Amino acid sequence: MIDLIIEAERIVTPAGVRRDGAALVRHGRVIAVGVPREVNSLADVRADVLRGEVLLPGFIDLHWHGYGGHRLDDGPEQARAAVRAVAASGVTTVYAGLGAGATLDAIAATVAGAAAVVDSDTGGARLAGLFLEGPFISPEKKGAWNAAHLRLPSVAEAERLSAAANGTLRRVNVAPELPGAPAFIRWCVEQGIVVSLGHSNATYEQALAAVEMGAAISNHTFNAMSGLDHRSPGLAGAALSSDGLLAELILDRVHVHPAAARALYRARGAAGVALITDGSALTGMADGTYYQLGRTVAVAGGACRLPDGTLAGSTSPFDRNLRHAREDLTADLVALAAMTSGNAARAMGLDSHTGRIAPGMEADLVLLDAELNVRATVVRGVVVYRAGTEA
Ligand SMILES: [Zn+2]
Repeated sequence: MIDLIIEAERIVTPAGVRRDGAALVRHGRVIAVGVPREVNSLADVRADVLRGEVLLPGFIDLHWHGYGGHRLDDGPEQARAAVRAVAASGVTTVYAGLGAGATLDAIAATVAGAAAVVDSDTGGARLAGLFLEGPFISPEKKGAWNAAHLRLPSVAEAERLSAAANGTLRRVNVAPELPGAPAFIRWCVEQGIVVSLGHSNATYEQALAAVEMGAAISNHTFNAMSGLDHRSPGLAGAALSSDGLLAELILDRVHVHPAAARALYRARGAAGVALITDGSALTGMADGTYYQLGRTVAVAGGACRLPDGTLAGSTSPFDRNLRHAREDLTADLVALAAMTSGNAARAMGLDSHTGRIAPGMEADLVLLDAELNVRATVVRGVVVYRAGTEA
């Protein structure tokens, strides 16, 4: 593997933004960040060179379900294709959102299928683990989930699905107000599985009790959860006020109003928010009408709707949500890096090797133009996507 030099007008590091900088990538890692002349002097003469405006840590999407026509539930080949394709949106690390199915066996089968792709070389992004968004969620806040497929939290069933995941299950979502949830949350935390709260009608008190037990993420904050009322703050109130929860946010301007997003950002700051896509398989596809899971859906403007107007998952890619964050939250580049990469890395325990640009870290990087469009995506030192080419 030859050296890679990436020159950018602005390189976003935890210490701040470095102007007119360069990063040297060797054997999959960033080994130096500095002024171009110094970095060039360290590099092999045959080094490959990329140039762009802004260099950010590669995006980490904690919560998505597919990309470019490929669904994660449809077996290892489709999951691999989705993980490969999502790199075009600047994403370098993803967690596969799963958990739909009529029976536990059916869910276990989709889990086992996606597990085969975890940590494999896809030629695109890296699938870092599996995420069970369902089925242990509330029928009162089911969103697009099939009510007949929901289940009560059960340690035995979690053990079964964890076994199907073969050591790759990294996160489970639960509605903490359901019977059995406390034991379920404690078991997950003991196993080192990150617990998120969502698709839930929990009271504020139930949410905080779950945080005390170790729950750490608010699942697509505001969507499919008990909202903020000034006398009963609900799960949304917990996400707005508790530093114990990293608040996921779908900033597609469809799922959450920009003013609500701003309220969350001002309440929690850049350290408390993680941008996600919650992207369906139709993310990255052209506007139009598609047939998916037995339903006709219309994709337009980053939204995917059933004929009656019901939202059926987001189709706004990660880089577009990043641009929304810059405009709607007036977030600076250091804040954007935290919300698109650093916070997620910390929440999932990846921060010793990815999630920021610094010597010694894995070279998971996204190079953007001045408008924050993706020019190139680098995963562990390999350029897996270049705009305008089939990298
Ligand atoms: Zn959801």
